[in-house]
Amino acid sequence: MEPEKTSSDPLHAPGRLLSTMNEDGSRRWLRPRVSTGRFWHARRVVAYALIIIFALVPHLSIGGKPVLLLDVIKREFTILGTTFLPTDTVLMALLMVTLFASIFLITALFGRVWCGWACPQTVYMEFLYRPIERLFDGAPGKKQRIKGAKGPRKIAKYVVFVLCSLFLAHTFLAYFVPPRELITWVTRSPFDHPTAFLVMAVTTGLMLFDFGFFREQVCLVACPYGRLQAAMLDRQSMIISYDERRGEPRGKLRRPRRDKNAEGVSLKVIAEESPGDCIDCHMCVTTCPTGIDIRDGLQMECIGCAQCIDACNTIMDKVGKPRGLIRYSSRAAMEGERTRVLRPRIVIYPAVIAIMFTIFLIFLGGRQTAEAQMLPRQGMAFYEIETGEIVNQARVRLVNRGEADASFAFSIDGVEGARVILEEPDLTLTPGESRVVGFMIAVPPDGFGPRGRKEATVNVSQPGVEDGFAKQMRYNIFGPPSGGGGS
Ligand code: SF4
Ligand code: SF4
Repeated sequence: MEPEKTSSDPLHAPGRLLSTMNEDGSRRWLRPRVSTGRFWHARRVVAYALIIIFALVPHLSIGGKPVLLLDVIKREFTILGTTFLPTDTVLMALLMVTLFASIFLITALFGRVWCGWACPQTVYMEFLYRPIERLFDGAPGKKQRIKGAKGPRKIAKYVVFVLCSLFLAHTFLAYFVPPRELITWVTRSPFDHPTAFLVMAVTTGLMLFDFGFFREQVCLVACPYGRLQAAMLDRQSMIISYDERRGEPRGKLRRPRRDKNAEGVSLKVIAEESPGDCIDCHMCVTTCPTGIDIRDGLQMECIGCAQCIDACNTIMDKVGKPRGLIRYSSRAAMEGERTRVLRPRIVIYPAVIAIMFTIFLIFLGGRQTAEAQMLPRQGMAFYEIETGEIVNQARVRLVNRGEADASFAFSIDGVEGARVILEEPDLTLTPGESRVVGFMIAVPPDGFGPRGRKEATVNVSQPGVEDGFAKQMRYNIFGPPSGGGGS
């Protein structure tokens, strides 16, 4: 008889609740068993390689520029040594479309291979925090129950968790803060840079909350990728599937027993076996890091970690049945349909990737050797100086994208008598340098018109350089309104 399903039994969530929620709404803590099979060993190698790569990437550089730095404060993204500024919106948009189309393509071909094999959430959770937890708490039993560490062992576990979270917080922030600045944050007293210290403390706290408490909930309720998979997958996508035609009807494995015949002779009785290969051992469920039963079919919660494959293969070996009751396959193949690699989305996605990336490369190749961008003005709109002229303070973000030092000059057109006063007359930027340059625009005091404004053009150029950088930017010069005249 089927055992009664109760909310206290972690193997039988009543109805189709969230796999991590009990019937009464409380959290159902998951302590997945490790199933050390072929895929687990391969994933472990990939995971530790990725942990090293994740930590190293922010410290690597190409041609003196970071491999990857998303400097949100300066609004500069450096990818593979190429810096993108806010003015590179089209380039960034093309790169994003290429990236999303690539994700769509990989998912259509291989399902959630990213989630199971390479996502930092899975990598750190399954190969850093869970092994530490098992070290202190002990390995979970068949019903995912463990005694759990108590007293000093529990404190030690959380101390190690905090140290790991500190490491992760620094690794994470190194993608957003230049490494040199990050080292300053780490080596100097928190009182010298309280904001930076607060950012680091909050990030460490978030890491601890994620990997110590929130855990698989990130994949189940927070990450949008799992929710989109229904749109990204088709019947031919390779996913982790249970072979229902082979496994059902499932039934418990019955051991031979001895009985006596009518003459009282003891005989070995082989119990009739269930015709399906699944022996309903639940090993695929207790090993699942998101707590689902793969035998219920493709589910949003499945992160494609292949732990259920390893678990089931071990069982199949033990009961002398062929491996692969759970395996990488497509829904079509599982239902006996023909496997088709070539299908519309497998043609359309690469076409989109190729077109977008080609346009991206053309735009990238056509970029000038420098970049200038007017920044919003700060402080007073205008003021008068001793000469009687009206002065506006302006700022330009100037970037030297070239390979050598570059000197720049400013001039102004469109307003008679206007002149530029540079705070730094000899303006030279080193290769890759990005600087906010402040300068003043002085104009005669009259002719601002009733709206108190004149339209001008600010020119940035490289004097003496043939085919050098040149850019014109429109700029409104403010001044005292007058009865007529100016625009
Ligand atoms: S169902 Fe299998 S592949 Fe999917 S998350 Fe669970 S253990 Fe991993
Ligand atoms: S591990 Fe294999 S045999 Fe055991 S319940 Fe899962 S599918 Fe069935």
